[in-house]
Amino acid sequence: MNPIYAAMRATVFEEMSALARARGAINLGQGFPDGDGPADVRQEAARALIEGPNQYPPMMGLPALREAVARHYAEHQGLTLTSDQVLVTSGATEALAAAILAIVSPGDEVLIIEPAYDAYRPLIERAGGMVRTLTLSPPDWRIEVEAVDAAFARPPKAVIFNDPLNPAGRAFTHAEVALLAAACRRIGTIAICDEVWEHVRFDGRNHYPLIAEPGMAELAIKIGSAGKIFSMTGWKVGFVMAAPDLLEPIARAHQFLTFTTPPALQTAVAYGLGKPMRWFEEMRAGYQHSRDLLASLLADQGFVTLASDATYFLCVDLPASGFADDDRAFCLRAVEQAGVAAIPVSAFYGGESERRIVRLCFAKRDEVLVEAVRRLATLR
Ligand code: PMP
Ligand code: GLN
Repeated sequence: MNPIYAAMRATVFEEMSALARARGAINLGQGFPDGDGPADVRQEAARALIEGPNQYPPMMGLPALREAVARHYAEHQGLTLTSDQVLVTSGATEALAAAILAIVSPGDEVLIIEPAYDAYRPLIERAGGMVRTLTLSPPDWRIEVEAVDAAFARPPKAVIFNDPLNPAGRAFTHAEVALLAAACRRIGTIAICDEVWEHVRFDGRNHYPLIAEPGMAELAIKIGSAGKIFSMTGWKVGFVMAAPDLLEPIARAHQFLTFTTPPALQTAVAYGLGKPMRWFEEMRAGYQHSRDLLASLLADQGFVTLASDATYFLCVDLPASGFADDDRAFCLRAVEQAGVAAIPVSAFYGGESERRIVRLCFAKRDEVLVEAVRRLATLR
């Protein structure tokens, strides 16, 4: 293999979606809803596209969107960010890349929490950074004091904290967030907070942004994604929020990645972020229904699932469900023999990895979930 590609494996999402397309399978792999997002937000994008302007918007983002983001997080999370602390990016993926390019220099150690979203490691490594890991264990995926102490014994330059956690569906408690904040404060470790799933949480759970913890306003970089907020994963509008001294180098990196994001989408996201709280509650209730349906359909067929507090994902414990395959072998068998695509959770680990868990996306219509479980049951 060309050594340039060694750090950049093909993503499991593209691999599994390609298999799903080739086999005509139901795709419960890559996380995307089978609806098409709120009609009024799409209408606003269409209006803005026709009326314009369609030339380069400001590099930092449209003022209307930067203001809408600041207002949105004041309303939903009590944050007191001003619009000049907001940078608009082309999705959270670009936000992550810009933050990592801005912060990580060759030789810097960056802590990631495994299972970790698959973009983190390759971006850190291509920036010349060294990845260190703190590993969480199923079924609870809890952040424990001892593990944090061990991970920060030699403090890293930065930590990437994904809360709620993809693929585990874990929404961390305030105590866990505070524990991590205390560790960051010890020597000023920068926290890159990937909070793209912040709104998709269940059973009345709260979201505790790390940036709101004492002393973290100057150390945390908060990343959000309109794709997740509005169930339109193809939209690729993201936001970065940070204190001016942290945001500045990230904006510099953003200049050389995409420079801007399509203005019509920015206008529509600015509109959507002002939706009433009720809209967000209904969105959560809809996905909670889908989570509960998938969990009960799977339980009826003898599958054992882990708890899912948040995200679009529910994890299946293969050995507890009576399967001897490892996660990857199960996913290949599921797509080829049963016509259902899923994601092996081992793809979220670098080295020695968890191989017993498979992630299913439940952001689908009821009848799709019913048919998918009927098919998965044939794998026994
Ligand atoms: N971070 C996490 C944890 C994600 O799950 C995703 C996408 N599902 C992203 C980042 C990327 O978000 P975007 O599509 O806005 O680039
Ligand atoms: N974040 C999505 C997921 O976890 C996938 C995004 C992608 O395809 N890179 O399923």
